[in-house]
Amino acid sequence: MSRKFNFCAGPAALPETVLQQARDEMLDWQGKGLSVMEMSHRSDEFVSIANKAEADLRDLLNIPANYKVLFMQGGASSQFAMVPLNLGGKGGTGNYINTGIWGQKAIQEGERYLPIHLAASSSTVDGLVRVPRQFEIQTSQDAAYLHYTSNETIGGLEFDYVPTSDVPLVCDMSSDILSVPMDVSQFGLIYAGAQKNIGPAGLTLVIVRDDLLDQAKAEMPTMFSYKVCAENASMYNTPPTFALYLSGLVFDWLKTEVGGLENMAAINRRKAAKLYAAIDGNDFYSNPNALENRSIMNVPFRLADPSLDKLFLAKADDAGLLNLAGHRSVGGMRASIYNAVPEAAVDALIEFMNDFAKTRG
Ligand SMILES: *Cc1c(COP(=O)(O)O)cnc(C)c1O
Repeated sequence: MSRKFNFCAGPAALPETVLQQARDEMLDWQGKGLSVMEMSHRSDEFVSIANKAEADLRDLLNIPANYKVLFMQGGASSQFAMVPLNLGGKGGTGNYINTGIWGQKAIQEGERYLPIHLAASSSTVDGLVRVPRQFEIQTSQDAAYLHYTSNETIGGLEFDYVPTSDVPLVCDMSSDILSVPMDVSQFGLIYAGAQKNIGPAGLTLVIVRDDLLDQAKAEMPTMFSYKVCAENASMYNTPPTFALYLSGLVFDWLKTEVGGLENMAAINRRKAAKLYAAIDGNDFYSNPNALENRSIMNVPFRLADPSLDKLFLAKADDAGLLNLAGHRSVGGMRASIYNAVPEAAVDALIEFMNDFAKTRG
């Protein structure tokens, strides 16, 4: 077996010990004689798997009792519709902060269901890209909620603060949830597709404050209703059982092997700091984002000579460094260094980048 270092933006690397445990339990889960994939989602066995996953997640994020944890499907992209459908029933406008491609997608989908007010946008100053500061955020009088993207996965632009607002704060945390500790009580609703920092694709996590379960529009698909999902403990229909089981293993890994989110944050900050230092320390590489808004999860960078992009990627592949191409919409390079990407992967990437710049730069 030769596992390589995987910098994919999503579906992303999973902790190796999690994959090993899943392998060991694949055919026979804990002596029950069947795979998790083959279990009824209503069986005691699977309900215990789901309950432990939720309990461990609540523990990791210190989720207050007045918040529901929902395990849904459809990816973060479905949340772009579910948020206005579930929070826009009392009228008003959806307020959005636009910091990049995912923020824009949320706005485009949101305006199919609610009038939209753009509360703030990221700006470019002297070529630096940065997120809006608190004083630049102007919510409208009739705001039903304020939505933002804590980490723009494609641009590598991350908020260095949590905006405050009189209306419920809604956050797309698809690519930075569980990377550092946070205070859930600052939010009305948090959502994240699983395939970046949680587990396999197919599961979508929603954390929602109880009082927001009664703000829904009358007409919407039953499967889109947070309230229905909450009242049925995320089992109104068949949940993505294997993805939920694997996510549970990741939560357990974060708690027992990593030792919690403080430890995870320290590792993540160290990984990101050395990679940005390698980029800044070499004229051959560049990243345009303001220092305080550089993502610690997704690190986009460009080569001084873009005609070498293909060669860079091919040589990186040969060196066992996978999936370093930037998003198809922006090009360049991007190293996604989520929780499960080991520090050794970042070290190997830095060594490769230095060598490449020396020989071809
Ligand atoms: C990946 C991503 C999405 C889209 O997620 P899907 O689960 O593929 O719908 C949305 N927002 C952010 C911030 C992302 O990183």
